[in-house]
Amino acid sequence: MDSQLLALIDLQGLDTRIAALEADAARLPKQIDAIHAALAEAKKTVETLRAKADTAKKDLRTKEKDLEVITAKRTRAEARLWEVKNNTEYSAVLAEIEAIKQEKAKAEEEILAVMELQERLAVDIRDSEARLKGSEAEARQNEAVVRKKLAAVEQELAGVRGERESRAREIPKSLLVDYEKILRARGGVAVAVVTTSAICGGCRVAIRPQAIQELKAASRLMVCESCGRYLYWQESA
Ligand SMILES: [Zn+2]
Repeated sequence: MDSQLLALIDLQGLDTRIAALEADAARLPKQIDAIHAALAEAKKTVETLRAKADTAKKDLRTKEKDLEVITAKRTRAEARLWEVKNNTEYSAVLAEIEAIKQEKAKAEEEILAVMELQERLAVDIRDSEARLKGSEAEARQNEAVVRKKLAAVEQELAGVRGERESRAREIPKSLLVDYEKILRARGGVAVAVVTTSAICGGCRVAIRPQAIQELKAASRLMVCESCGRYLYWQESA
């Protein structure tokens, strides 16, 4: 096979590897971001629950003070029962005490509801803190794995780029410029295979029988008439 064609095939192989490695090098940091985002979400869940518990605590304090006020009001009303002058006043104070009792029952019910909420929140906080702890350990592990992968990808990328550079030096400048132009214009594929199915491996357009004969002979560099990619012949794999 023509040595220039061989060099182009090699170069294409290296450029395809570089493109795949570059895609990995771009994708892996996003995985790390996703790991951090998931962890931040778990932290936020704990913080939100803690804030709710704080609110409940303040709410309870307010309601307990309200209850003290109501209790004092009842004591005063009961004391007034001894001071009333007639039955009408007596009935009025009794009605007042009855109303205060209801008020007190309602306040006690509310306090109970807040205490129940506090119990539920305490359980939720314990659960979410345990989950967060697990997530943190898992995230550390996952991030270490991804960072190791990323380092390996970057190392390999540097190696392949170096290989590519030295291989490119063996190709005449004008051919290399042409190859790189096609590479950019044709989605990273400048060299396409043609097998016994007789279609361009790049654009899937049929290759003329005469051109197939020339390709098999590989006496000169040929390009696809449809997409302009360099072509080479290979018996079906
Ligand atoms: Zn083509």
